[in-house]
Amino acid sequence: MDSYKHKGLRSKLTATVKAKGITDKKVLNAINLLPRHLFLDKAFEEWSYKDQAFPIGEGQTISQPYTVAFQTELLELNPNDKVLEIGTGSGYQACILSLLCKRVYSIERQRQLFLKTSDLLRQIGYGSIRTLFGDGYKGAPRFAPFDKILITAGASSIPQDLIDQLKIGGYLVLPLGEGDSKTMTRITKTSEDQIKREVFGEFRFVPFLEGTS
Ligand code: SAH
Repeated sequence: MDSYKHKGLRSKLTATVKAKGITDKKVLNAINLLPRHLFLDKAFEEWSYKDQAFPIGEGQTISQPYTVAFQTELLELNPNDKVLEIGTGSGYQACILSLLCKRVYSIERQRQLFLKTSDLLRQIGYGSIRTLFGDGYKGAPRFAPFDKILITAGASSIPQDLIDQLKIGGYLVLPLGEGDSKTMTRITKTSEDQIKREVFGEFRFVPFLEGTS
């Protein structure tokens, strides 16, 4: 399942991500540990350890490792955090999160992808990640409040439901903006009705879509 060759490629990928500016050692360790080739079809294995996004079916992509590391670093995870990811996709980002904190929930709006990835996560030993099928705009009120929420699709506005499901002091990290290029944004819920906004550069993402399919 995992080989010396894969491990070697992974340590190169980790060095690349570090060279691009990721400094959090826990995040770099997680990238170095998690076999990314398990999240791509076998035919595309050789692409797994390039620092690139890649198609995973249903018109969706597995995010670029640098972007995964960047978003994860912004979350400043603590081991006891309860985290919600919006956009399960391949499950790669969810596994990175679960290497850094105990309770991970992840929502996907495409049923086929939800079913396929839920199976995969169980098979590779990440069955503790709670996968949910639904519209991420609405969050997961049954499991709220969350310490951190991460959106892995490009949003054009900040969903109020997600702010409502954050603890005071919690973060919502999301790529935000009107056009194709999104501004990486970290929202802190500073009180019941106030937020603070920080911005961190431009990224490209597949769109955050309302409803399920
Ligand atoms: N985190 C993923 C990245 C997947 S790309 C990974 O590591 O592979 C973004 C994902 O968000 C896609 O799978 C897309 O179907 C999903 N998505 C888009 N809008 C959504 C919504 N409203 N609710 C839940 N998932 C959504």
